[in-house]
Amino acid sequence: MKRRHFIKNASLTGVGIAIGATVSSCRNSSEEKPILPKHNQNSKAILPVVVATWHVEEATAKAMEVLKAGGNALDAVEQGCMVEEANEKGQSVGKGGLPDREGNVTLDACIMDKHGNCGAVVYLKDITHAVSVARKVMEDTPHVMLAGEGAKQFAVSSGFKPEDLLTEASKKAWEKWKVEAKYKPIINIENHDTIGMLAIDKNGDISGACTTSGLAYKMAGRVGDSPIIGSGLFIDNEVGGAVATGLGEEVVKTVGSFLIVELMRQGKSPQEACEEAIGRIVNKPGKDYKDFQVGYIALNKKGETGCYSIHQWFSMTKFQDGVNEQIQSDFYNKA
Ligand code: ASP
Repeated sequence: MKRRHFIKNASLTGVGIAIGATVSSCRNSSEEKPILPKHNQNSKAILPVVVATWHVEEATAKAMEVLKAGGNALDAVEQGCMVEEANEKGQSVGKGGLPDREGNVTLDACIMDKHGNCGAVVYLKDITHAVSVARKVMEDTPHVMLAGEGAKQFAVSSGFKPEDLLTEASKKAWEKWKVEAKYKPIINIENHDTIGMLAIDKNGDISGACTTSGLAYKMAGRVGDSPIIGSGLFIDNEVGGAVATGLGEEVVKTVGSFLIVELMRQGKSPQEACEEAIGRIVNKPGKDYKDFQVGYIALNKKGETGCYSIHQWFSMTKFQDGVNEQIQSDFYNKA
């Protein structure tokens, strides 16, 4: 049981999330007023460090292995994200991702290094490791972003092997959806996720990456926040980095990851910056935040971390000081 399902089941049974000894507690969803932020209890200034959205301990372990072997943060986040892209059981990333409403699995990803270089792919089909194609765009082309057929052609010419990303399980889920939802794209807080990862290496340099198949059963051609530099991911080696998961449309409208990095530049902690960025979304007039999910994680150059979300079903995995653990996010919950 991974990521969202684990978290949801745990909160439904009242068990709470208790992986490792130092998990911060979930808020009481029955309170009527906005609950004051409970800061990430585990935030320490220790390097090297890897953080990722959701419960992805194998991915953060891989990234830390790269760092411990002397690798840099860019290699760490790429290889960490690749673990989840190859995991067919995860139906929101890479191979086995849930398709759009026409049955196409289309991937979005981006990566950003300590120099502010970045690369992205959008609407990429048939290539599992979208994050690696994004890195190739950054390193081997004069561009930042490649889309669709051009992105696939570039990937193939760079040596990536095309394969069918629609697994039997995802095909079945899509067929069930077609019958139940009558072909209508629905915005909900299920059926999507992004693996976003931030790492600082032994030189104190930060990099970040994110990868997703986007919203399940989205309209063909839909692209979310994840490949958009500044929205789904932003890195500034003077300050730190941030990455988003959840309804990309809301993240794009507030340029969430760039906002968080800029708030940290102005002196906010990663936790405070994530909370303010969620505030920019939920405090818009008429915004019914109960209908969708957004979660942010952030890391500053000292190695301090933050995570915050609109609902309780969000967690961060952190590998720091020899401990690889899942941390439940605090969340906004105005009754
Ligand atoms: N942010 C992704 C998108 O909107 C999906 C997710 O992270 O849940 O495509």
